[in-house]
Parts: sequence; structure tokens; C-alpha cells
Amino acid sequence: MEERKQRKDDISAYIEDQEFIANTYVMKCFTATLILYAITFILNVIGIFVVDQKVMRQGFIPSVIIYFIVLIISKHISLSHKNTKYLILFSGVLVFTIIGVSVTYHGILLAVLPFLYATLYSSKKVMWYVYILMVLSTVVIVFGGYYYGLCDANMALLTSGRLQDYIVDGHFTLTEVNKNPVTSLMLFFVLPRCLIYIAIMFVCNSLFDILSGSLEKARLTVELQKAKDEAERANKAKSKFIARISHEIRTPINAVMGMNEMILTETSEENIREYSEDVKDSASVLLNIVNEILDSSKIESGKMELVSENYKIGSMLNDLYNMIHIKAKDKNLELVFDIDSQIPREYVGDVKRLRQILVNLLTNAVKYTEKGRVTLALRCKVIGDNAKLSFYVMDTGIGIRQEDIGKIYDEFQRFDTSRNRDVEGSGLGMNIVQQFLKLMDSELKIESEYEKGSEFSFEIQQKIVDAKPLGDFREKVSRANNGRKERIAFTAPEAKILVVDDFAMNLKVFGNLLKQTQIQVSQATSGRECLELVKQEHFDMIFLDHMMPEMDGIETLHAMQSEKLCEGTPVVMLTANAIVGDREKYIQEGFDDFLSKPILPEILDETILRHLPQAYVKKAEGNDKKGDL
Ligand code: ADP
Repeated sequence: MEERKQRKDDISAYIEDQEFIANTYVMKCFTATLILYAITFILNVIGIFVVDQKVMRQGFIPSVIIYFIVLIISKHISLSHKNTKYLILFSGVLVFTIIGVSVTYHGILLAVLPFLYATLYSSKKVMWYVYILMVLSTVVIVFGGYYYGLCDANMALLTSGRLQDYIVDGHFTLTEVNKNPVTSLMLFFVLPRCLIYIAIMFVCNSLFDILSGSLEKARLTVELQKAKDEAERANKAKSKFIARISHEIRTPINAVMGMNEMILTETSEENIREYSEDVKDSASVLLNIVNEILDSSKIESGKMELVSENYKIGSMLNDLYNMIHIKAKDKNLELVFDIDSQIPREYVGDVKRLRQILVNLLTNAVKYTEKGRVTLALRCKVIGDNAKLSFYVMDTGIGIRQEDIGKIYDEFQRFDTSRNRDVEGSGLGMNIVQQFLKLMDSELKIESEYEKGSEFSFEIQQKIVDAKPLGDFREKVSRANNGRKERIAFTAPEAKILVVDDFAMNLKVFGNLLKQTQIQVSQATSGRECLELVKQEHFDMIFLDHMMPEMDGIETLHAMQSEKLCEGTPVVMLTANAIVGDREKYIQEGFDDFLSKPILPEILDETILRHLPQAYVKKAEGNDKKGDL
């Protein structure tokens, strides 16, 4: 029993257990029937030969009572699995032998036996065979009893002549039987018994169906559970694999993008700049695909969560405009941002996910439009402290066929592939958009006319932080962009930053990205080296890589904290392991911020400006305009 419990998780053991229970149950019924017939036989013999026919009839009632008592008792008998089958076979043979002497009144009880056999062997055929056997044995016993004085109880009554009454009850006399024995015996002895068998046979047939149906259902449930467990295990393994592979892929992309950024900044040769721009485009497409795969695997594994923060809608729209208008310009498309000037300017919400939704929709609109216009419209309805923001992304592109619209959210689903052969994409974007919107209690609406264009829209509710109206977005965008320089928004020559990463190329990229800020960048290639350095001198900011051999980023931070080596120094986690939920995890571990690789120069600047003491920062003129939005 103990051992059985231990194997509880093992599905095949579970099925075996189920079969064991079923077999034991059938076996108990057989045992009960066997005992009953033994008792009935004795009662009949006594009833016929010793006492009176009445007593014999009365013997039937106690025998039925005993049948049930034995059945109840037998429920509590437990027998080992191995012996069950032999016992049942043995008892079956015995019961059939006993039929020969006591079949008379107990056809009903006997007729249950084939059903039990059938259940045991899980085969209806067995049941039919046994019924045929019973009919044949009834014929043999009745005729044998009449002609050769075999030991059928009724035959004994007939031949003894003492129970003529019995036959009179049945409207026949022995003389009548003797006139035409074959027909009489068939009609009045064989047929009634066989009719009882047949009637019960039909009931048992249905019972068997019900029982085997429910056993089959139990088996299917177990198999289904097994398949589900296996699928979940496989899915977990897949998510783990994707998380790992994404780290492996993002690290070299980081190096490619970072070094390429340096080429772009430092080269003065036009053709090198062009090649470098191409590398940048391809690397960002690659990064986008990796990120989309990562996002969808996170969504699948339920790890995707919203992170709310205060944000200025103008700033978000400006980023979007800057990202998309270059793509639109390359294709000679008009890009229109039709923004309601009355909308409140600041909200609380997951601006990163919102931006990602709009980037996906706008990128698609540009990708799938050959000529004409791409429009982003934003309308707002203020309800108390909240704003209902309605976004519309419209294009005059190739459109989507009505029958394809329903399939657009399926993963890896792309339409018109022959037409869109040159359009890059993974078919994951819309699925991600839909999942993000679901997290925000919203959904995407699609209206499209094939060959004419599409409109994608959604509504989200956001809490208002600053209700002042945004004003004319177009005018602000042009003001901000006119004053914008490429990057280099500040210098901080007195600031000291330490960057720790086991991958030397990353250190090089990091140093190069900060070259123009004139910040003093120290480098370490392991957690241990980092500890040595912070013991020797003070840094204004530390960037720690997560995955490092020996001592990872989190362990290094904890070691610094326990030795009080980084008090007051912001420590930023640097990782290619961009799994959602990590941000919170790192903050909980004691980090001040989180920077995902590949490091984007603008984001690095923003992070440094957020944490570096303001006294060090010297802002270059004309770089501050974005703050207006
Ligand atoms: P992809 O990476 O292929 O763009 P998405 O999931 O973003 O994947 O979109 C799925 C498919 O829906 C696309 O391949 C394209 O056929 C269709 N689609 C998406 N947006 C548009 C659009 N604005 N106009 C026409 N077709 C679109």
C-alpha cells in the first residue's frame, strides 16, 4: 500500500490501480455468487428431499438475503491482484457445475454471471459466449433430468412424483409432459429459463456499456492529463530555452550595434557611413525579431505583466513620430499625427507597452502601404480622474481580406506572402498587440478593405496625473525636432562610472558609447575585480552585468552591500536576459535601475542623467526641448 502511494504520480501505476480496483470488485461479486449458490444448493436439497416444497420455496428468500449479506461482507475482503483471476476462473467453473443441480429458481442470479465475466475480461464477446453456454447447459440439464434422472432439482420433483402440485400450479400434469416430452420440456422448462436469461442478458448488455464507457472515460481522462502534463513540461522547457537563447543572441547584437554606433559617430567617409547605416537597420530588425519572440514566449508562459509609471503623452508620441517618420519617408508616405489638442498631458500607465502597441501598428501600416498616407489619430474623453484614450491607426495600404481578419492574431500568421515576400516580419506582432491590450482590459478592432486600406483602433483607460491640455502636437514636434542634435546631450567629465561585464567586447562598446560625455569609465571583468575596485576608490555610478561566471551581478551587489561599499552609489543592472518581471526582481534585489542589452545610446544617456548627481552634469545647449512635450 505504501509503495502504491509512492507511485501515485506515476500515471501507468494509476491505471493499473484502477484495473486492480475493478478486478477486485468483480472478483468479490463472483465469490459472493459462489457462496450463495453453495448455500442455495444445500437449502434446495433440504427443501426437496427432507422437508416440503413450501420450505424449499421459503429457502429461496433466505438465500437471497444471504446473497446480499455475503456481497456486503465480500466488499471488505481484499485479495492480492495476482490471485484474483485464478480465483474468479475457479469459482466460475464451480458455479457452472453447481448449475447442474440447483438451477431451478435462481436463473436471475445466475444470469448475472456472464456479465461479471465480461467485465473482468473487458469483452462483450465473453458475455455472449457464456450466455450461449448457459442456454445449452439448461437444455442438457432439463432433458438429461427427464430422460436419465440427472440431478436437476425440478427433475427430481417430477420423478419423485411427490410434487404433482407444482406442475398443477403451472397448469400441467406429469401425464401431459409424458405425452409429448420434447415440446413440453422445451416450452415449460427450457424456454422460461432461457427467456429469463435473454431478458437479463439485454439489461447486462446495457450495464456493460455503461460500465465500460465510464472506465474508458476514466482512462481517457488519465491519458488527457498525461498529455497535458507533457505539453506543459515541453512548454516550460521551450520558455527556458528561449530565455537562454535570447541572452546568447542579444549579447553579440549588442556588440554589433555598439561598435556600429561608433563607426557612425567617428567616420567621415560617406560610403562607410552608408554601409554602417545598413548594418544598423539589419541589426535593429534582428533585434526586433528576437524581442518579439521573447515577448510572445513571455506572454505564453504568463510572465508578462504591466508596469505602471507616470508618463507624458506628448513625449511618447514624439518618440513614435521620430521612429516612424523615417520609415514613412523612405517609402514616400505621408505620416499624419492627428492628436486632439485638448487631451490631458500626463497619465499613469504602462507607457512602454502602449508605445510598443503603437509601434507595431504603425510599423505594419508603413510596411503594408505602398503609396498614400499613414495616420495616427488620438481622441480623448475625460471621466472624473480618468481619461478614455481612443487610438486609431489608419493606412491606405494593401488591406486585408475579410476572411483573413479573424486569423490575424494567430502566431506566425502572415497573409499575401507572395506579394509581401520582401516585407520583413515574423507574424508575431499582432498577436503581441492583442495580448498586451488584453492585459490593459482592451481589445483591437480591425476594419479593412482589401486593396484600399485598413483601420486598427483600440481604447484604454488611464489615470490622469496632469490635466493641462497637451496643445498643438504638430507645432511642438517641429519645435522639439528642430532643436534636436543627434545625441550627446551632456558631458560629465568629473563623474566616475564603473562598468562590470565578463564579455570584453561589451566593455569596449560601453566605453565608446560614453566617450563623448567625457565621463571617466573604469572597467572590471568579474564580480571579484569589481569588489577590489570599489574598495580602492569611490564611483558615482556602477553598471553590473547579470550573467557572469563565478559571481553573478546580484551576488556582487549583495557582497558590496554587506561590506557597505556602495552606499549612496546608484547601481544599475545590465543584462541581455530581458525577461519581463526582471525589472521588479532587480529592484527588489537592491538595484536602482535596469538596462537591457543591446544598450541603446539614448537609453544609456537617460539612465545616467536619471541617477548621476546633477552637480556633475553639464548640458549642451538646445538639447532640452524634448522636455516640453
Ligand atoms: P508581421 O511581422 O508579418 O508584420 P504581424 O503579426 O504584425 O506580423 O501581422 C500579421 C499579418 O497581418 C501580416 O503579415 C500582414 O499580412 C497582415 N497585416 C498586418 N497589418 C497590416 C496592415 N496595416 N495592412 C495590411 N496587412 C496587414
